[in-house]
Amino acid sequence: MSTKDYLEKDYYKALGVTKTAKPAEIKAAYRKLARKYHPDSNQGDAKAEARFKEISEAYSVLSDEKRRKEYDEARSLFGGGFRVPTGTRPGQGGFGGFDLGDIFGGAGDAAGGLGDLFGGVFNRGRTTAQNRPRRGADVETETTLSFGDAIDGTTVALRLTGEGPCPTCHGTGAKAGTVPRMCPSCQGTGQSSRNLGSFGISEPCKECRGRGLVVDDPCPACSGSGRAMSSRTIQARIPAGVADGQRIKLPAKGAPGERGGPAGDLYVRVHVKPHPVFGRSGSDLTVTVPVSFAELTLGAEVKVPSHRGAPVTVRIPPGTPNGRTFMVRGKGVRRKDGTSGNLLVTVEVMVPKDLNSKARSAIEDLREATAGQDPREELLERAKEA
Ligand SMILES: [Zn+2]
Ligand SMILES: [Zn+2]
Repeated sequence: MSTKDYLEKDYYKALGVTKTAKPAEIKAAYRKLARKYHPDSNQGDAKAEARFKEISEAYSVLSDEKRRKEYDEARSLFGGGFRVPTGTRPGQGGFGGFDLGDIFGGAGDAAGGLGDLFGGVFNRGRTTAQNRPRRGADVETETTLSFGDAIDGTTVALRLTGEGPCPTCHGTGAKAGTVPRMCPSCQGTGQSSRNLGSFGISEPCKECRGRGLVVDDPCPACSGSGRAMSSRTIQARIPAGVADGQRIKLPAKGAPGERGGPAGDLYVRVHVKPHPVFGRSGSDLTVTVPVSFAELTLGAEVKVPSHRGAPVTVRIPPGTPNGRTFMVRGKGVRRKDGTSGNLLVTVEVMVPKDLNSKARSAIEDLREATAGQDPREELLERAKEA
C-alpha cells in the first residue's frame, strides 16, 4: 500500500459498510466477502483474486483503529481531490508488501512504514525508517520573577515557541485548494535504493527529501515545508524559594511527542529581580540597617524591616563595631520542610552631613574628651611587625 492507495481507494465501499460502521460490522462484512472470494474456492479466477485482495487490504486498514483513523484523516484532509501522477499504473504496487498472514492473524502491522508516512505528512514532514513513537524535545525557556514571588512561589504563564505543522496548509506544504502528489521518484515510499556493486543501500529519496510527497504549488505561509513556528502558553508552577539563575525542571511540559510518544521536559531558567532593601543568601534574607555612631557606642534597640511582616526590634549592645551582623531567627525564606531561614541584619554607621549647632558642639566636646585616644595607634604599631 502507498499514500496513493489511501487517497484513491474507498475501503468502506470495498467492504460494503458505512463510514461509521462499528468494528464488529466491519469484521462481519469482511468475513463474508473473504469466504466468497477466497482464492481456494475460486481457482484461476483473476477477478475474484483481485476482489479478494481489495477486501483484504480494506480490512487490514479498517480493522486497525489507528490506521483507520489515519485513513479517515487523510481522506478528509485531501478531500478526494488527489491528483494521480501521470506515468504511474493504477492497481500496481498497491498490494506489494502485503502479508496475508497479517490479515488472518488479525493483529499485524502489515503496512509497516505507511503509518509513518502519514505521521510524516501530519507531523514532521519527513519519514523515518521506524514507526516508533518518539519522545518530544526538551524545551528551555526563562522567566523573571519579583523578589517576593521567588520567595513565596508563584504560577507564571510561559509562552513557548516551537516548530509545528503549518496552520495554513495543515502541514501538507501545499497551497490552499491544491494537494501534494505522490513523489514519482520513490513512489511515495520516501526511500530510494542505490546499487553499490553487489549490495544495495536504501536512503531518503532526494526528490522529496524522504517525505514521499511532492508539492507543485507550495503553501505561501511555509514555502512548502509544511512546518511553521507556533507558540503556546502554559501555566507553570514555580516552587517557593527559587534563587536567581536557578533552572527548574517541569516534567512533560516540553514539546509534544510524536506518534503517541511522551512529551519532553521543560526547563525554566529563573531570573529574580533585586529587592530595593532585601538581599538573599540561600534561605536567609539580608538587610543593611543604618545606625548612628551613638547607637553603636551606647547601645540601642533599633527597628529593622522584615520581608512581608511587621518590623522587628534588634537590640544593639553598647560598643558594637560597625558592620556587625545580627541574626533574627525565622524571618528568612520559608524552606521546603516548613522551617524558615533567618534575617541577617548588618549595621552600618551613617555619618551626618548636616549638624545643628548643638550636635556640632557635642561632637566637638567628644573629640576633646577623647583626644588622648588615637584610634590608629594599634594599627601603626602592628604595621611595624615583620
Ligand atoms: Zn521521493
Ligand atoms: Zn503551509
